[in-house]
Amino acid sequence: MSAGKPQFDPYDPLGIDDLLDEEDRAVRDTVRGWAADRVLPHVAEWYERGELPGIRELAVELGSIGALGMSLTGYGCAGASAVQYGLACLELEAADSGIRSLVSVQGSLAMYAIHRYGSEEQKQRWLPRMAAGEVIGCFGLTEPDHGSDPAGMRTHAKRDGSDWILNGRKMWITNGSVAGVAVVWARTDEGIRGFAVPTDTPGFSAPEIKHKWSLRASVTSELVMDDVRLPADAVLPEVTGLRGPLSCLNHARYGIVWGAMGAARSSFEAALEYSRTREQFGRPIGGFQLTQAKLADMALELHKGILLAHHLGRRMDAGTLRPEQVSFGKLNNVREAIEICRTARTVLGANGISLEYPVMRHATNLESVLTYEGTVEMHQLVLGKALTGLDAFR
Ligand SMILES: Cc1cc2nc3c(=O)[nH]c(=O)nc-3n(C[C@H](O)[C@H](O)[C@H](O)COP(=O)(O)OP(=O)(O)OC[C@H]3O[C@@H](n4cnc5c(N)ncnc54)[C@H](O)[C@@H]3O)c2cc1C
Repeated sequence: MSAGKPQFDPYDPLGIDDLLDEEDRAVRDTVRGWAADRVLPHVAEWYERGELPGIRELAVELGSIGALGMSLTGYGCAGASAVQYGLACLELEAADSGIRSLVSVQGSLAMYAIHRYGSEEQKQRWLPRMAAGEVIGCFGLTEPDHGSDPAGMRTHAKRDGSDWILNGRKMWITNGSVAGVAVVWARTDEGIRGFAVPTDTPGFSAPEIKHKWSLRASVTSELVMDDVRLPADAVLPEVTGLRGPLSCLNHARYGIVWGAMGAARSSFEAALEYSRTREQFGRPIGGFQLTQAKLADMALELHKGILLAHHLGRRMDAGTLRPEQVSFGKLNNVREAIEICRTARTVLGANGISLEYPVMRHATNLESVLTYEGTVEMHQLVLGKALTGLDAFR
């Protein structure tokens, strides 16, 4: 190697770290340190129990490190760049997709909806407390009979004098049972509208969904709305139609492009370390060509995925990022991340299925990440339409 060239780093083979500035690194290290202290020592146990105990304290701590509504400005939000928000998502998901989901739903869905489409009064009422983690938010779009095609939603709001009466059911809602405010999308005579619903309003309940085999360290709930009476000012005034929720999803999907690579990184590193120490046939399994082929292929997809996330982040910061490009990233990175976790699982042999190691937990978490925020097929259809000009959704 010629003098002056940096060493090859197995954990950063392309030198992606050089793309970061000091502030980016500070954000990354703060979130990584927090996750190492507060999540990693406990998450296998939470996962096994199917709970996220202390979620309210965790939310306040996440607020104190600026991770909630991180790329929003004002109202107590950190005003970070899109790249910094992405780095935070990667570090959180390297701990567990459930923690990243808590942060994505709070910041990119619930807070983003209020920040972008809310009245000044709604922003003042909710955002500072949400940024501090004192109020948890959820985002209710999916229904039992309407997932990929939310345009068919049945939840509806009707005017009664100046009030609104909200009825319907939402399904698979992250943070639902612990939320203080639910952003609920409903059909109205004027089209689909968003409502900021205080969850203590009579007629609103959010029973938790149990028996999940994925995202077990995350709260997932139904939202039941039975004649929920809301004042006129509960509606988000600045948007009508599906473009409201879809724009929020676009922001959250962007975070997933990064986050998925966190789960993949954790699994790759577990496999790399294991391959150096586990011996069979008298030598470390990392010395066999077949294991090296797996490690090399995992490293390729991991670091290509992180580069792609960076590229999209820079476009978001420049204001040039298109939703089709976010679909490109979400489709590629989640699909590759789950493949990396599955391959890492094989490198660990039987230990790969144990909660002593993170890989199976990440792999099963990513089954949800593959489906929520637009399934693989939805993003293929988005790209297919963008490539051909032909709509194949129906
Ligand atoms: C853990 C978890 C947390 C979630 N959190 C939230 C949340 O906070 N808020 C929220 O609103 N939602 C949330 N969701 C719901 C999620 O967004 C939906 O599950 C997702 O949109 C898919 O909807 P569905 O499950 O009803 O599947 P369906 O839409 O019924 O799809 C089933 C299958 O059919 C395929 N399919 C559907 N239409 C087509 C087509 N035209 N062409 C080809 N294939 C098609 C799909 O791709 C999929 O493979 C969450 C889901 C999970 C698992």
